[in-house]
Amino acid sequence: MSKVGVLAFQGDVREHSAALERLGAAPVLVKTRDDLASVDALIIPGGESTTIGKLLDRFDMIDPIADRAASGFPIYGTCAGLILLAASVTGKHDAPHRLGLLDIEVARNGYGRQVDSFESELEVKGLASSFRAVFIRAPIIESVGDAIEVLARCDGRPVLVRSANLMASSFHPEMTGDDRVHEMFLETITGANA
Ligand code: GLN
Repeated sequence: MSKVGVLAFQGDVREHSAALERLGAAPVLVKTRDDLASVDALIIPGGESTTIGKLLDRFDMIDPIADRAASGFPIYGTCAGLILLAASVTGKHDAPHRLGLLDIEVARNGYGRQVDSFESELEVKGLASSFRAVFIRAPIIESVGDAIEVLARCDGRPVLVRSANLMASSFHPEMTGDDRVHEMFLETITGANA
């Protein structure tokens, strides 16, 4: 059984853990470097990217996560987690203390105030039917590098992307009880350990 870490500083940690349990994985709350060393993969949840980033920095987790990522460790960032994975952030508000591992450019809260939260039916590459996605003060992915695979778009913009062992979504797949996106992530763990 894969041990899948959920970074547990802040945000919707419980919902991700529940999705992992439903899929038969063992969720592990990750707050320290030792916790990180004990897991096969990591989910960085939605929440507030400035807060999560500060805590990553304070607990000296940025380099250890980056080091593991460089050797194929699977990481999935949702919403604030996507911002923390992004190589660059445009617009007024950067998120300091990012991991900066994924070659995408994002704008925090990019969908604007009038649509702070919305839902959309997405066509996701590899899924047989549409996926209902919940967006909450979501970042916009402004551009993606050549090596990034876009797995889903909303109104033409990428919202679910993958590059080797890294995956990120601007929406929250843990909120609807549809675990197919988590399942896709778990499949990358099998690949990484093969
Ligand atoms: N708006 C948040 C940020 O910029 C992300 C929101 C979320 O994770 N739901 O960090």
